[in-house]
Amino acid sequence: MSDEMEICPQKDCVPSEELPSLMQMAKNLASDGAKIIKNATKGNSTLVDDDVRETRWSVCQTCPRLQNDRCLECGCFMKVKVAFVTSQCPLGKW
Ligand code: SF4
Repeated sequence: MSDEMEICPQKDCVPSEELPSLMQMAKNLASDGAKIIKNATKGNSTLVDDDVRETRWSVCQTCPRLQNDRCLECGCFMKVKVAFVTSQCPLGKW
């Protein structure tokens, strides 16, 4: 077995010690989900336009806090998170 396999069987995973705690990520997910639902129930658009999504994603792609498409600040999968109107960068970059 290679060293890589001993560390992580999933080649592209993020080491858990680099992410927020599971409890914090659960809180983040619940908070983000609540914002999306609240926004949708007001009849507002849930998703941003393609250009906004692409601009956000391009910022994330140059951010040192992005690893394997996950933000190390919030633990979110950013390809998904950038698409929602209510999403915010935890560092205020977008
Ligand atoms: S959400 Fe913000 S902190 Fe996280 S990867 Fe994107 S730019 Fe970086």
